[in-house]
Amino acid sequence: MLTMTINGASVESPAAFEVVNPATGEVEAHAPVCTPAQLDDAFAAAAAAGRGWRSDVDARRKAMLRLAEAITAAGDALAADLILETGKPAPIAASEVPICATWLQVYADMEIPRVVLRDDASALIEVAHRPLGVVAAITPWNFPLGLSMWKIAPALLAGNTIVLKPSPFTPLATLRLGQIMGEVLPPGVVNVVTGGDDLGRALAAHPTPRKVTFTGSVAGGKSVAAAAGADLKRVTLELGGNDAVILMGDADVAASVPKILGTAFFNTGQACALPKRIYVPDALYDDAVEAFASAASAIEVGPPGSASTQMGPLSTRPQYERVTALAAEAIAGGARVAAGGGPLDRPGFFFRPTILADVADAARIVDEEQFGPVLPILRYSDIDDAVDRANSTMFGLCGSVWGTDIDAAGAVAERLECGTTFVNTHAALLPTVPFGGSKWSGVGVENGVAGLLGFTEPQVVHTCRV
Ligand code: NAD
Repeated sequence: MLTMTINGASVESPAAFEVVNPATGEVEAHAPVCTPAQLDDAFAAAAAAGRGWRSDVDARRKAMLRLAEAITAAGDALAADLILETGKPAPIAASEVPICATWLQVYADMEIPRVVLRDDASALIEVAHRPLGVVAAITPWNFPLGLSMWKIAPALLAGNTIVLKPSPFTPLATLRLGQIMGEVLPPGVVNVVTGGDDLGRALAAHPTPRKVTFTGSVAGGKSVAAAAGADLKRVTLELGGNDAVILMGDADVAASVPKILGTAFFNTGQACALPKRIYVPDALYDDAVEAFASAASAIEVGPPGSASTQMGPLSTRPQYERVTALAAEAIAGGARVAAGGGPLDRPGFFFRPTILADVADAARIVDEEQFGPVLPILRYSDIDDAVDRANSTMFGLCGSVWGTDIDAAGAVAERLECGTTFVNTHAALLPTVPFGGSKWSGVGVENGVAGLLGFTEPQVVHTCRV
């Protein structure tokens, strides 16, 4: 069994929990349950490590580059863990490894801003940025490594130390990452502990961390915010999305639809920032539904190890049951099945790529985040109405507008209430570009200099010269 990493050491636990392979539905691994005393040890180690770690930014940059190399060298083992615990097709699993390396390299090269506000004969006034101290990081199951590194890389450069907890559905790759970090970084700089949601609550409520960085559901984010509020910890919350896509009247259906569909069903539709409901003008509606259905029907669903597989299973049993229920409910409510329609009749959590037409706006598949390969296509007559409906949920992660006249599409895109709005693309995320949600989709941003500053607090340094 893979072990936790606390203070640079490999740590076992008296108890273990089961890890299910979503491609088979069977228990195929176990992971340690962190005890309360071990969590205290992890936070104490992180606090002790912080004193040295924060003192030398050049040493931090070098260590981050060494870590990028070590992660790359362990790429095959990390990808194998991801395949087992998430069911991702091998290329998608493997792609999380270079994401980790890239994020470390980009942040290792980033400057922590120091702004001079006044520099004259009477005073030097600067705004510096100090590390926050110990950071608690909590991650979901859809991109266990990539989303961990979105937190680890900026937190490390800023001079913080970390206790990281992955999702109980996907502990394996993160435990291995912890072991690699334990070998490369000074002891205690990053500690990895595993357990259930209760362990997440214990991280958020622990008195040591000064920040909680959380990626996960809206419900989890609200709980973390409440716990953090009790002793004024900082939070960054990257939560759910229900991204609206609007096709303009001049959209090129044949060119746009395969791109939108490919993005919507990336990682079996299990990413926060994917197209999740599509608004199409009357004149294009029938053509668009047919194009979405034909692209969806062509997707090869299968086990992650097969070379022909384009889409793997849903990653968890609860997610499989939720997507099945949302699709069935929409169909019972009058939605027309243009492609797919339900689960595949085989072991594991496989679901047919599904396109639903003529869906009612009030259906849960429109109003809630499906996080799976079921896409509702909605009809509109008036662009203002489409914008109002796109903005009508409490989600606000991303959105996109597709059209030939990019100025007109851009003007509509800026009316979407969301953290990132795209024109003729969707979910194009980069380490240097801030990413975050409005409304219930999040608080704060990750990535870019803005994401780095989220792991610091400003300190004014005012030197009197007279
Ligand atoms: P989840 O909220 O159930 O769990 C996420 C993590 O939080 C897990 O490690 C879990 O153990 C822990 N956790 C659960 N309840 C907690 C609590 N009360 N306090 C502290 N920790 C708690 O989410 P999930 O099902 O693992 O992930 C899917 C969700 O994550 C989707 O809604 C998706 O949109 C969202 N997500 C958002 C982003 C983003 O960047 N905005 C990225 C990926 C996923």
